[in-house]
Amino acid sequence: MITKIAPAVQGSAHWQRELADAIREPTELLRLLQLPDSLLEGALCSADRFPLRVTRSFLARMEQANPDDPLLRQVLPLAEEMGTERDEQNRSDPPPSWGQFDPVGDQDAMASPGLLHKYQGRVLLVSTAACAIHCRYCFRQHFPYQQANPLGTQLPTTLAYLSQHTGIHEVILSGGDPLSLSDQRLAQITAQLATIPHLKTLRIHTRLPVVLPQRLLSGQLDWLQASRLNMVMVLHINHPNEINDEFRQALLALQGLNITLLNQSVLLRGINDSPDCLIELSQKLLECGILPYYLHQLDQVSGAAHFEVPISMGHHIVEQMRQKLPGYLVPRYVQEISGQAAKTPL
Ligand SMILES: *Cc1c(COP(=O)(O)O)cnc(C)c1O
Ligand code: SF4
Repeated sequence: MITKIAPAVQGSAHWQRELADAIREPTELLRLLQLPDSLLEGALCSADRFPLRVTRSFLARMEQANPDDPLLRQVLPLAEEMGTERDEQNRSDPPPSWGQFDPVGDQDAMASPGLLHKYQGRVLLVSTAACAIHCRYCFRQHFPYQQANPLGTQLPTTLAYLSQHTGIHEVILSGGDPLSLSDQRLAQITAQLATIPHLKTLRIHTRLPVVLPQRLLSGQLDWLQASRLNMVMVLHINHPNEINDEFRQALLALQGLNITLLNQSVLLRGINDSPDCLIELSQKLLECGILPYYLHQLDQVSGAAHFEVPISMGHHIVEQMRQKLPGYLVPRYVQEISGQAAKTPL
Protein backbone atom coordinates (compact mmCIF):
# COMPACT_ATOMS: atom_id res chain seq x y z
CA MET A 1 0.00 0.00 0.00
CA ILE A 2 2.18 2.84 -1.17
CA THR A 3 0.55 4.58 -4.09
CA LYS A 4 -2.93 5.67 -2.98
CA ILE A 5 -1.88 8.93 -1.34
CA ALA A 6 -2.63 12.04 -3.38
CA PRO A 7 0.48 14.20 -3.91
CA ALA A 8 -0.93 17.06 -1.82
CA VAL A 9 -1.59 14.84 1.18
CA GLN A 10 1.76 13.20 0.78
CA GLY A 11 3.30 16.66 0.55
CA SER A 12 1.67 18.12 3.60
CA ALA A 13 2.57 15.03 5.57
CA HIS A 14 6.16 15.60 4.59
CA TRP A 15 6.71 18.84 6.53
CA GLN A 16 4.72 17.48 9.44
CA ARG A 17 6.95 14.41 9.52
CA GLU A 18 10.04 16.62 9.45
CA LEU A 19 8.58 18.73 12.24
CA ALA A 20 7.94 15.63 14.33
CA ASP A 21 11.44 14.40 13.57
CA ALA A 22 13.12 17.42 15.21
CA ILE A 23 16.01 16.73 17.56
CA ARG A 24 14.99 16.85 21.23
CA GLU A 25 17.80 14.97 22.96
CA PRO A 26 20.95 16.88 23.96
CA THR A 27 22.97 13.67 23.55
CA GLU A 28 21.85 13.37 19.93
CA LEU A 29 22.60 17.03 19.19
CA LEU A 30 26.12 16.75 20.63
CA ARG A 31 26.77 13.51 18.75
CA LEU A 32 25.56 14.80 15.38
CA LEU A 33 27.75 17.90 15.65
CA GLN A 34 30.73 16.15 17.26
CA LEU A 35 30.63 18.45 20.25
CA PRO A 36 32.43 17.75 23.52
CA ASP A 37 30.68 15.77 26.26
CA SER A 38 31.50 18.53 28.70
CA LEU A 39 28.47 20.41 27.35
CA LEU A 40 26.10 17.59 28.24
CA GLU A 41 25.46 18.20 31.91
CA GLY A 42 24.46 21.83 31.45
CA ALA A 43 22.40 20.96 28.38
CA LEU A 44 20.43 18.25 30.17
CA CYS A 45 19.84 20.47 33.16
CA SER A 46 18.62 23.48 31.16
CA ALA A 47 16.62 21.34 28.73
CA ASP A 48 14.71 20.09 31.71
CA ARG A 49 13.31 23.57 32.23
CA PHE A 50 12.78 24.52 28.55
CA PRO A 51 13.24 21.51 26.25
CA LEU A 52 15.75 21.39 23.44
CA ARG A 53 14.24 21.39 19.98
CA VAL A 54 15.88 21.91 16.61
CA THR A 55 15.03 20.74 13.10
CA ARG A 56 17.50 18.67 11.12
CA SER A 57 17.36 21.25 8.37
CA PHE A 58 18.57 23.99 10.72
CA LEU A 59 21.20 21.68 12.18
CA ALA A 60 22.58 21.05 8.68
CA ARG A 61 23.51 24.75 8.48
CA MET A 62 25.72 24.55 11.58
CA GLU A 63 29.45 23.98 11.52
CA GLN A 64 30.67 20.66 12.88
CA ALA A 65 32.59 20.63 16.16
CA ASN A 66 32.12 24.36 16.77
CA PRO A 67 30.47 25.06 20.13
CA ASP A 68 30.32 28.77 19.22
CA ASP A 69 28.46 28.30 15.95
CA PRO A 70 25.94 31.18 15.80
CA LEU A 71 23.04 28.90 14.87
CA LEU A 72 23.90 26.32 17.49
CA ARG A 73 24.08 29.01 20.17
CA GLN A 74 20.45 29.89 19.50
CA VAL A 75 19.22 26.40 20.40
CA LEU A 76 21.79 24.72 22.63
CA PRO A 77 20.72 24.69 26.29
CA LEU A 78 23.61 25.95 28.40
CA ALA A 79 24.43 25.85 32.09
CA GLU A 80 24.36 29.70 32.04
CA GLU A 81 20.59 29.58 31.77
CA MET A 82 20.40 28.23 35.28
CA GLY A 83 22.18 31.31 36.56
CA THR A 84 25.62 29.72 37.02
CA GLU A 85 28.13 32.29 35.85
CA ARG A 86 30.69 30.35 33.88
CA ASP A 87 31.30 32.92 31.21
CA GLU A 88 34.07 35.42 32.09
CA GLN A 89 32.33 38.15 30.10
CA ASN A 90 29.19 37.57 32.02
CA ARG A 91 30.58 38.49 35.42
CA SER A 92 28.98 41.90 35.65
CA ASP A 93 25.77 41.73 37.59
CA PRO A 94 22.63 41.46 35.51
CA PRO A 95 20.33 44.45 35.94
CA PRO A 96 17.70 43.98 38.63
CA SER A 97 14.87 43.62 36.13
CA TRP A 98 16.44 40.47 34.71
CA GLY A 99 14.83 37.14 35.26
CA GLN A 100 11.19 37.87 34.68
CA PHE A 101 8.73 35.26 33.52
CA ASP A 102 6.65 37.74 31.50
CA PRO A 103 9.05 40.59 30.64
CA VAL A 104 6.82 42.24 28.05
CA GLY A 105 3.62 42.33 30.09
CA ASP A 106 1.68 39.78 28.03
CA GLN A 107 -0.53 38.86 30.96
CA ASP A 108 -1.71 42.42 31.57
CA ALA A 109 -2.53 42.97 27.90
CA MET A 110 -4.62 39.85 27.51
CA ALA A 111 -8.08 41.03 26.52
CA SER A 112 -9.43 37.55 25.90
CA PRO A 113 -7.64 34.16 26.14
CA GLY A 114 -4.44 34.38 24.08
CA LEU A 115 -5.45 37.71 22.53
CA LEU A 116 -3.15 40.62 23.32
CA HIS A 117 -4.69 44.01 22.66
CA LYS A 118 -1.93 46.36 23.60
CA TYR A 119 -1.36 48.41 20.45
CA GLN A 120 -3.86 50.59 18.66
CA GLY A 121 -5.49 49.10 15.59
CA ARG A 122 -3.88 45.70 15.91
CA VAL A 123 -4.13 42.64 18.09
CA LEU A 124 -1.75 39.79 18.53
CA LEU A 125 -2.92 36.20 18.88
CA VAL A 126 -0.63 33.79 20.68
CA SER A 127 -1.63 31.05 18.29
CA THR A 128 -0.13 27.82 19.47
CA ALA A 129 2.55 26.54 21.79
CA ALA A 130 4.34 24.63 19.05
CA CYS A 131 7.58 25.81 17.48
CA ALA A 132 9.92 23.93 15.19
CA ILE A 133 12.92 25.09 17.17
CA HIS A 134 13.22 26.35 20.71
CA CYS A 135 15.20 29.57 20.83
CA ARG A 136 16.90 29.83 24.18
CA TYR A 137 16.25 33.58 24.41
CA CYS A 138 12.53 33.31 23.63
CA PHE A 139 10.53 35.74 25.71
CA ARG A 140 7.46 33.50 25.64
CA GLN A 141 9.25 30.47 27.02
CA HIS A 142 7.16 30.73 30.20
CA PHE A 143 3.84 31.59 28.53
CA PRO A 144 0.84 29.63 29.88
CA TYR A 145 -0.23 28.33 26.46
CA GLN A 146 -2.58 25.71 27.90
CA GLN A 147 -4.91 28.31 29.36
CA ALA A 148 -4.91 30.56 26.32
CA ASN A 149 -5.73 29.01 22.97
CA PRO A 150 -7.28 31.79 20.87
CA LEU A 151 -7.50 29.77 17.64
CA GLY A 152 -8.59 26.48 19.22
CA THR A 153 -11.40 26.05 21.71
CA GLN A 154 -11.44 29.82 22.29
CA LEU A 155 -11.89 30.74 18.62
CA PRO A 156 -15.54 31.87 19.01
CA THR A 157 -14.50 34.20 21.86
CA THR A 158 -11.65 35.55 19.73
CA LEU A 159 -13.90 36.21 16.74
CA ALA A 160 -16.52 37.87 18.93
CA TYR A 161 -13.89 40.20 20.40
CA LEU A 162 -12.58 41.11 16.96
CA SER A 163 -16.09 41.74 15.61
CA GLN A 164 -17.01 43.99 18.51
CA HIS A 165 -13.88 46.13 18.31
CA THR A 166 -14.23 47.95 15.03
CA GLY A 167 -10.98 49.84 15.58
CA ILE A 168 -8.96 46.67 14.98
CA HIS A 169 -7.63 46.52 11.41
CA GLU A 170 -4.85 44.02 11.72
CA VAL A 171 -4.57 40.60 13.29
CA ILE A 172 -1.10 39.28 14.04
CA LEU A 173 -0.71 35.54 14.39
CA SER A 174 2.26 35.01 16.63
CA GLY A 175 3.36 32.20 18.77
CA GLY A 176 4.53 29.69 19.26
CA ASP A 177 4.64 29.42 15.52
CA PRO A 178 1.32 29.84 13.72
CA LEU A 179 2.62 27.95 10.68
CA SER A 180 2.91 24.83 12.80
CA LEU A 181 -0.90 24.65 12.44
CA SER A 182 -2.12 22.67 9.44
CA ASP A 183 -2.97 24.50 6.22
CA GLN A 184 -6.53 23.24 6.55
CA ARG A 185 -6.87 24.85 9.95
CA LEU A 186 -5.19 28.05 8.76
CA ALA A 187 -7.54 28.18 5.77
CA GLN A 188 -10.56 27.96 8.10
CA ILE A 189 -9.22 30.61 10.44
CA THR A 190 -8.30 32.99 7.61
CA ALA A 191 -11.71 32.57 6.02
CA GLN A 192 -13.41 33.40 9.31
CA LEU A 193 -11.23 36.44 9.92
CA ALA A 194 -11.96 37.68 6.39
CA THR A 195 -15.68 37.84 7.21
CA ILE A 196 -15.04 40.63 9.74
CA PRO A 197 -15.39 43.75 7.59
CA HIS A 198 -13.10 46.12 9.49
CA LEU A 199 -10.14 43.70 9.38
CA LYS A 200 -7.76 44.65 6.56
CA THR A 201 -4.53 42.84 7.23
CA LEU A 202 -3.38 39.46 8.45
CA ARG A 203 0.19 39.36 9.64
CA ILE A 204 2.01 36.12 10.39
CA HIS A 205 5.04 36.05 12.64
CA THR A 206 6.84 32.82 11.85
CA ARG A 207 10.17 31.09 11.91
CA LEU A 208 9.05 27.92 10.21
CA PRO A 209 9.90 28.86 6.61
CA VAL A 210 13.46 29.43 7.82
CA VAL A 211 14.04 26.49 10.10
CA LEU A 212 11.82 24.06 8.17
CA PRO A 213 11.70 25.13 4.50
CA GLN A 214 9.61 22.05 3.75
CA ARG A 215 6.76 23.94 5.41
CA LEU A 216 6.52 26.03 2.25
CA LEU A 217 7.84 23.46 -0.21
CA SER A 218 5.32 20.76 0.67
CA GLY A 219 2.53 22.87 2.17
CA GLN A 220 -0.82 23.79 0.59
CA LEU A 221 -0.57 27.55 0.64
CA ASP A 222 -3.75 28.47 -1.27
CA TRP A 223 -5.23 30.05 1.86
CA LEU A 224 -2.54 32.73 1.73
CA GLN A 225 -3.68 33.78 -1.71
CA ALA A 226 -7.40 33.19 -1.47
CA SER A 227 -8.06 35.79 1.19
CA ARG A 228 -9.15 39.38 0.59
CA LEU A 229 -6.89 40.43 3.49
CA ASN A 230 -3.48 42.04 2.94
CA MET A 231 -0.94 39.39 3.80
CA VAL A 232 2.24 40.23 5.65
CA MET A 233 4.75 37.61 6.73
CA VAL A 234 7.37 38.58 9.27
CA LEU A 235 10.17 36.04 9.37
CA HIS A 236 12.66 35.68 12.20
CA ILE A 237 16.26 35.35 11.01
CA ASN A 238 19.17 36.38 13.22
CA HIS A 239 22.26 35.39 11.27
CA PRO A 240 23.25 35.24 7.57
CA ASN A 241 24.15 31.53 7.92
CA GLU A 242 20.45 30.79 8.36
CA ILE A 243 19.88 31.70 4.72
CA ASN A 244 20.78 28.73 2.56
CA ASP A 245 19.67 27.27 -0.77
CA GLU A 246 16.87 25.21 0.71
CA PHE A 247 15.37 28.35 2.24
CA ARG A 248 15.74 30.26 -1.05
CA GLN A 249 13.98 27.41 -2.85
CA ALA A 250 11.18 27.52 -0.31
CA LEU A 251 10.65 31.24 -0.89
CA LEU A 252 9.90 30.53 -4.55
CA ALA A 253 6.69 28.89 -3.32
CA LEU A 254 5.52 32.34 -2.20
CA GLN A 255 6.24 34.02 -5.51
CA GLY A 256 3.16 35.48 -7.11
CA LEU A 257 1.15 35.24 -3.89
CA ASN A 258 1.36 38.97 -3.16
CA ILE A 259 2.75 38.66 0.36
CA THR A 260 4.85 41.39 1.93
CA LEU A 261 7.95 39.77 3.41
CA LEU A 262 9.72 41.32 6.38
CA ASN A 263 12.25 40.11 8.92
CA GLN A 264 12.81 40.61 12.60
CA SER A 265 16.00 39.75 14.45
CA VAL A 266 16.94 39.73 18.09
CA LEU A 267 20.30 41.27 18.98
CA LEU A 268 22.18 38.42 20.66
CA ARG A 269 25.58 38.38 22.27
CA GLY A 270 28.03 36.03 20.61
CA ILE A 271 25.60 35.43 17.73
CA ASN A 272 24.97 38.58 15.69
CA ASP A 273 26.41 41.43 17.78
CA SER A 274 28.61 42.96 15.11
CA PRO A 275 27.96 45.46 12.29
CA ASP A 276 29.49 43.13 9.68
CA CYS A 277 27.22 40.27 10.62
CA LEU A 278 24.04 42.33 10.50
CA ILE A 279 25.08 44.15 7.32
CA GLU A 280 25.59 40.80 5.61
CA LEU A 281 22.22 39.65 6.93
CA SER A 282 20.44 42.71 5.49
CA GLN A 283 22.11 42.17 2.12
CA LYS A 284 21.21 38.50 2.00
CA LEU A 285 17.64 39.28 3.02
CA LEU A 286 17.31 41.71 0.14
CA GLU A 287 18.51 39.07 -2.31
CA CYS A 288 15.62 36.95 -1.04
CA GLY A 289 13.08 39.76 -1.40
CA ILE A 290 12.79 40.31 2.36
CA LEU A 291 13.25 43.69 4.06
CA PRO A 292 14.61 44.05 7.59
CA TYR A 293 11.89 45.34 9.93
CA TYR A 294 12.92 45.15 13.57
CA LEU A 295 16.12 44.55 15.47
CA HIS A 296 14.94 43.78 18.98
CA GLN A 297 16.78 44.59 22.13
CA LEU A 298 16.58 41.33 24.07
CA ASP A 299 13.65 41.04 26.44
CA GLN A 300 14.79 40.37 29.96
CA VAL A 301 13.32 36.94 30.33
CA SER A 302 14.45 34.49 32.98
CA GLY A 303 17.26 32.27 31.64
CA ALA A 304 18.52 34.57 28.84
CA ALA A 305 20.74 37.12 30.61
CA HIS A 306 23.89 35.74 28.96
CA PHE A 307 22.57 36.81 25.53
CA GLU A 308 22.23 40.49 26.41
CA VAL A 309 24.04 43.12 24.36
CA PRO A 310 24.27 46.54 26.08
CA ILE A 311 22.09 49.17 24.40
CA SER A 312 25.17 51.40 23.85
CA MET A 313 26.70 48.57 21.82
CA GLY A 314 23.44 48.15 19.91
CA HIS A 315 23.52 51.87 19.04
CA HIS A 316 27.05 51.54 17.75
CA ILE A 317 26.11 48.56 15.55
CA VAL A 318 23.05 50.25 14.08
CA GLU A 319 25.04 53.44 13.47
CA GLN A 320 27.60 51.45 11.48
CA MET A 321 24.78 49.86 9.50
CA ARG A 322 23.33 53.29 8.77
CA GLN A 323 26.65 54.46 7.35
CA LYS A 324 27.11 51.50 5.04
CA LEU A 325 23.60 50.56 3.92
CA PRO A 326 20.69 52.27 2.22
CA GLY A 327 18.05 53.27 4.76
CA TYR A 328 15.65 50.50 3.77
CA LEU A 329 18.21 47.86 4.80
CA VAL A 330 18.62 49.25 8.31
CA PRO A 331 16.18 47.63 10.75
CA ARG A 332 14.42 49.69 13.42
CA TYR A 333 16.24 49.05 16.69
CA VAL A 334 13.46 48.70 19.26
CA GLN A 335 12.65 47.54 22.71
CA GLU A 336 9.39 46.22 24.02
CA ILE A 337 8.67 48.08 27.23
CA SER A 338 5.94 46.62 29.36
CA GLY A 339 2.87 48.85 29.37
CA GLN A 340 3.94 51.07 26.42
CA ALA A 341 1.47 51.41 23.56
CA ALA A 342 4.06 50.69 20.86
CA LYS A 343 7.55 49.33 20.54
CA THR A 344 10.03 51.94 21.76
CA PRO A 345 12.67 53.06 19.22
CA LEU A 346 16.16 53.09 20.71
C1 LIG B 1 5.22 43.83 18.68
C2 LIG B 1 3.78 43.69 18.99
C3 LIG B 1 2.79 44.06 18.06
C4 LIG B 1 3.13 44.57 16.67
O1 LIG B 1 3.77 45.77 16.72
P1 LIG B 1 4.19 46.49 15.37
O2 LIG B 1 4.94 47.67 15.83
O3 LIG B 1 2.96 46.78 14.62
O4 LIG B 1 5.04 45.50 14.62
C5 LIG B 1 1.46 43.96 18.43
N1 LIG B 1 1.08 43.52 19.64
C6 LIG B 1 2.00 43.15 20.57
C7 LIG B 1 1.52 42.69 21.89
C8 LIG B 1 3.38 43.22 20.27
O5 LIG B 1 4.26 42.84 21.19
S1 SF4 C 1 8.16 31.73 19.55
FE1 SF4 C 1 9.77 32.34 18.08
S2 SF4 C 1 11.50 32.93 19.37
FE2 SF4 C 1 10.13 31.70 20.66
S3 SF4 C 1 10.90 29.59 20.48
FE3 SF4 C 1 9.29 29.86 18.94
S4 SF4 C 1 10.40 30.42 17.08
FE4 SF4 C 1 11.81 30.78 18.78
